[in-house]
Amino acid sequence: MSAPDPSAPPTSSVPVCPRHPDRVSYVRCQRCERPACAECQRPAAVGVHCVDCVREAARTAPVRRTVFGAPVRGGRPVVTLTLIGLCVASYVLQWVVGLAWTSALVFQPAIASIEPWRYFTGGFLHSTQGYLAFTHLGFNMYVLWVLGRELEVALGRWRMAALFLVSVLGGHVMVTMLTGVTTDWFQGVLGASGGVFGLFGAIVVVLRRMRRSASGVVGVIALNAVIGFVVPNIAWEAHLGGLLVGLLLGSAYAFAPRDRRAFVGVGATALVTVVLVVLAVVRTALA
Ligand SMILES: [Zn+2]
Ligand SMILES: [Zn+2]
Repeated sequence: MSAPDPSAPPTSSVPVCPRHPDRVSYVRCQRCERPACAECQRPAAVGVHCVDCVREAARTAPVRRTVFGAPVRGGRPVVTLTLIGLCVASYVLQWVVGLAWTSALVFQPAIASIEPWRYFTGGFLHSTQGYLAFTHLGFNMYVLWVLGRELEVALGRWRMAALFLVSVLGGHVMVTMLTGVTTDWFQGVLGASGGVFGLFGAIVVVLRRMRRSASGVVGVIALNAVIGFVVPNIAWEAHLGGLLVGLLLGSAYAFAPRDRRAFVGVGATALVTVVLVVLAVVRTALA
């Protein structure tokens, strides 16, 4: 008879970690009751769980959602930060590249009828002239950061992105609609203001839905509306168009029935976009 070899791997009678068979472990997972070595143990309310059970629990746990149905996630508001980044990068290019950059992207009703992307790109340019330089960009980015962050948490990423972009479109379509009335076909319009006013409109609806007071935001909108009418060279038409889109989409996103949320959200976004495109095409054709 030979004595047991001390260097031999532990036999099945000795509990070993299933992930690390060379490690003996007398601690067992409270869920699956398999042994778990020090590296594979995760503290639990009672005793420890193994790393596999913790992973499985995280995978099968229901996703927590906001009252508006957006998945609750920590971390940065990536859509808001991306939009701010695009505006700031574009502003730097306006200074570095100069007029070539601005004139390639600026919104003008006449040119946008042939180059329709200008309905969006004009929202990523800001004034580089006179007293509006920097304050134009600064104010829009400040509001985008404050309201965008809130709305992105409440509504989630895709609805925040859609809200901003369709509001920019709506602001420019309103300019086209009023061309010949308050503006002309070669009036250049730039700035994220349409998108920013869309966020104003949406936050009013979202706050109402959450039964929180919206009077502060309404006051800021009223103040800006007055500034838009009094100060020359501000496209109040774009503010109005963006605000209307924000109210419409914000209502659809905030008041959609829980079980039809995705359908109502996607449907309202598509419907508003199609209506805006039709309005712009028809108004341009009638010119
Ligand atoms: Zn386990
Ligand atoms: Zn292990």
